[in-house]
Amino acid sequence: MYIGRFAPSPSGPLHFGSLVAALGSYFQAKSRNGLWLVRIEDIDPPREVEGASELILQTLKAYELNWDGEVLYQSQRLDDYQAQIDRWLAEEQAYLCECTRKQIKAAGGFYQGACRDKALTDSQGCSVRLKMHYPISCFVDEKHGTLTIPDGLAKEDFIIKRRDGLFAYNLAVVLDDIHQGVTEVVRGADLIEPTGRQISLYKTLGAAPVTYLHLPLAIDDSGNKLSKQNHATAIDLSNPKPTLLNAMRFLGFEISDDIAGQNIAKIVQWGVENWQLFQLPNQLKIKPPFSNESL
Ligand code: GLU
Repeated sequence: MYIGRFAPSPSGPLHFGSLVAALGSYFQAKSRNGLWLVRIEDIDPPREVEGASELILQTLKAYELNWDGEVLYQSQRLDDYQAQIDRWLAEEQAYLCECTRKQIKAAGGFYQGACRDKALTDSQGCSVRLKMHYPISCFVDEKHGTLTIPDGLAKEDFIIKRRDGLFAYNLAVVLDDIHQGVTEVVRGADLIEPTGRQISLYKTLGAAPVTYLHLPLAIDDSGNKLSKQNHATAIDLSNPKPTLLNAMRFLGFEISDDIAGQNIAKIVQWGVENWQLFQLPNQLKIKPPFSNESL
C-alpha cells in the first residue's frame, strides 16, 4: 500500500511553498488510493514558533487536506533516535566529533573525517557523525529522473546529532519514515541534496528503500525560497480558495471556471482525480506568477 506524508516543521505558519508540498504529497497519495500522514517535525525548539503546530493543522483542515491516522510529533520520538545513535556508537558505526563548522569551512568546506579515529568519549560539546559507508551521488526522482548530489557532500561522515544536543533532521526523518511505513517521499526541491544522505541511512539501517518525488520550489523575486525563516506570507485561513487555486496552478493544473466555482472539498477531490506527474512543471524552482500579497 502507498503511504505518503507531509512533514512540516513548526517554525511558523504554512506559506505558499509549504501548501504546494502539502497538496502535491496529498494528490500523489490519494490518486494512488494511499494513506496521507502528517508528521510535525518539532525537534528544533529554538526555531519553533509557539502555536505554529496547531495553526498548521488548522490550516490543513481549512484546505480540506484531511490526514489519515494520528499526527506524529517528532518530539515524542527522541528516545528512539537516541537508541539508534547509541547502537551505532557501540558498533563504532558512529563517533563523536569535536570539529566546529568554522574549522570545517577553513579545511575546505566538507568534513574530511578529522575525528574518525580519535575515539573521543566525552560527548559534551561534540556532535555525533555516522561513518559513511554508502555514499550516494545520484538517485532517481519520479518526475525529474536522475538527480545528482555533489561528491564532497555525498562522501561526508554526516552529523546525526548536533553539538547542541539536538537530533539531526536527516536521522529523524528517515527513522520516522521507516517507523510510519512511508513508501514515497514527496516534498519540495530544496530537499534534493539531503536525499542522498537519507538514502544512505536506509542502506545503513538495511531498510527497504522508498521512492522520491520533488516538487517545484516556490521562489521570491530575488530567487530565494519562500520559507518560514524569511517570513513568507502565511496563507489565508479564512478565504482559502484563491490560494488553493494558485497552488494547484503552480503544480500544473489547468482549472476551468466551473471547477473554480466549486467548494474547497470538491476542488481538492477534482485535484486527486486529475493529478498527473507529466503535468507537473519540469523546473525545480519557479517564481509564482502572481504577487506575494495574493499568496
Ligand atoms: N520538516 C521539513 C521541512 O519543513 C520537511 C521534511 C521532509 O519532507 O522530509 O522543511
